[in-house]
Amino acid sequence: MADIIQLLPDHVANQIAAGEVVQRPASVVKELLENAIDAGASNIKLIIKDAGKTLIQVIDDGKGMSVTDARLSFERHATSKIKTADDLFQLDTKGFRGEALASIAAIAHVELKTKQEQVDLGTAIIIEGSEVNSQDVVVTPKGTSVSVKNLFFNIPARRNFLKSNAVELRHVIDEFHRVALAHCTISFAMYNNGSETFNLPASNYRQRIVNIFGNKTNEKLVPVEEDTEVLKISGFVGKPEYAKKTRGEQYFFVNNRFIKSAYLNHAIASAFDGLLKSGTHASYFLNLTVDPQTIDINIHPTKTEIKFDDEHTLYALLRSAVKHSLGQFNIAPVLDFERDSNLDTPYDLNKKQTLEPVIEVDRGFNPFKDSTKSSEGTSVKSSSFKKETSANWESLYVGLESKGNNEREDFSEVQFESQESTASMFVDDAEVEQVHTTYQLHNKYIVSTIKSGMLVIDQNRAHQRILYEDFLKNMTIKEAVSQQLLFPLQLHFSVQEIQILGQLKEDLEHTGFVFSNVLVESVEITGVPISVPESEVSIILEQLISDVENEVPDAHFSATDLLAKSMAKSLAIKTGQNLKKDEQEHLVNKLFACKEPNVSPTNKTTFVTMSVDELDKKFI
Ligand code: ADP
Ligand code: MG
Repeated sequence: MADIIQLLPDHVANQIAAGEVVQRPASVVKELLENAIDAGASNIKLIIKDAGKTLIQVIDDGKGMSVTDARLSFERHATSKIKTADDLFQLDTKGFRGEALASIAAIAHVELKTKQEQVDLGTAIIIEGSEVNSQDVVVTPKGTSVSVKNLFFNIPARRNFLKSNAVELRHVIDEFHRVALAHCTISFAMYNNGSETFNLPASNYRQRIVNIFGNKTNEKLVPVEEDTEVLKISGFVGKPEYAKKTRGEQYFFVNNRFIKSAYLNHAIASAFDGLLKSGTHASYFLNLTVDPQTIDINIHPTKTEIKFDDEHTLYALLRSAVKHSLGQFNIAPVLDFERDSNLDTPYDLNKKQTLEPVIEVDRGFNPFKDSTKSSEGTSVKSSSFKKETSANWESLYVGLESKGNNEREDFSEVQFESQESTASMFVDDAEVEQVHTTYQLHNKYIVSTIKSGMLVIDQNRAHQRILYEDFLKNMTIKEAVSQQLLFPLQLHFSVQEIQILGQLKEDLEHTGFVFSNVLVESVEITGVPISVPESEVSIILEQLISDVENEVPDAHFSATDLLAKSMAKSLAIKTGQNLKKDEQEHLVNKLFACKEPNVSPTNKTTFVTMSVDELDKKFI
């Protein structure tokens, strides 16, 4: 039989390699920006069209390439950055694989213009799908410009796989931020569809962070500096009160290279132990400098993971440096490693006033009365007792138009919206007296009785469903009630975040938000939906922005629906929250007044039932 193995032609090999290096426009942005930095540029410009799907161009004023180098730069494994394997352990450049330009040229239309300082004329090369179409002598300034057009033109499957422009642009901006943060002494500019998105002059690190994330960031930053033999740390952590619901602003750089490390992230999180509200994450912008010999950046093709020789020591140093800074700047008491963490008061308790414990007594309780029959003793008195406490929890449901103050009435009045099947699950009015019981299990589930057996409701999902339908209704009828704030609320966001808010403004207004002023980096809010506590506003909007950025499915994007889902998620009663009897009952009633009580807004089961028959079977 004939031999069947053959070497793949270069353009095929390049296309395969491209699959690893180039996942989306943002990957190209990263490679080109890093090449510009390696070339010693002091000014770097990034130009994007259609989130990089149509054009990605990077222009630098670095050292440029000779005619031969320009041609060679598109060959696979062609690099000027390492010569021997030993160099891998002394890396001071971003690139070293010599794969990027070859891969990009295999799957796009690329135009390179480059000139070295000492020569008069430069070189222009046009290469499409690994084929060099032209090579010319051109007049061009010192440095290099690489344009990448029609990414994935020859791999339609990959092109179709790209997300919406909003999502791809988010990834591009993320890469741009990472590179710009790691090199504050280089000036960067970014243009998107012809307008300037960022203009970052060369500056110090604090200024760079502020230029990217907005002026208000300045007051959030706490410096961290530590210089030891194995590790130098410098940078900033965000003050705990500015911690965010999303993990957006968390940056580690090791020897000026952005990395992700769950382990080191944990070191920071533990330094903030007890200082953060639950569910929030501290921001950080930290540069670690270590001996290049002690790290291996080779383990991941897209190079955001790194292997350290001695992670444990780094962990301890990082944690103590951050703790030290928080202590030094009076953000936290200086804490001793050995100290029992139970002694630390959680941060969110600091500001709360201590209340005397309230002892609740059911004055209507009479052990000698027949509880099912007597309407006077139990029912009337206990409901008047209940009325005293109801004011507290009802605030949770304002805007959910609760009917009547007496929840006994409320209960019997519930309309089960046409759905007979759900209605019949509940017992008749006559029996209500007997089974007027709900029980909360593990601060998570509400157990209740129904005609045929029992019902177990997931409190968080059920409340999401209730709020979701309510917000949707308000947005469609456009007459939500708004609650005027005594003092306008000034909230700060980045430029992109404000753009997203701008798109959602109208829908937000239909839910009851009132925006009195939208500026470049902040919004002023004078009214909020009745159901939204003022303290939650910034968290809700942050969550919303991040949902829009991350979860928007392309075509079927309905801003209204997303907004309702996001707000319902933010505001719903959480798992772990203790609910009083009245609250439990209210939740059950409200759920079954919903149009689709069976599932949460994200299509998860809200309740399960078990019939007496099923129970009986278990007891055979
Ligand atoms: P790597 O960066 O891993 O070496 P690339 O494919 O990204 O591989 O680039 C190949 C080579 O092309 C680089 O080693 C460098 O010599 C040259 N090069 C690429 N971009 C530039 C640039 N902007 N300025 C100068 N030289 C560049
Ligand atoms: Mg490179």
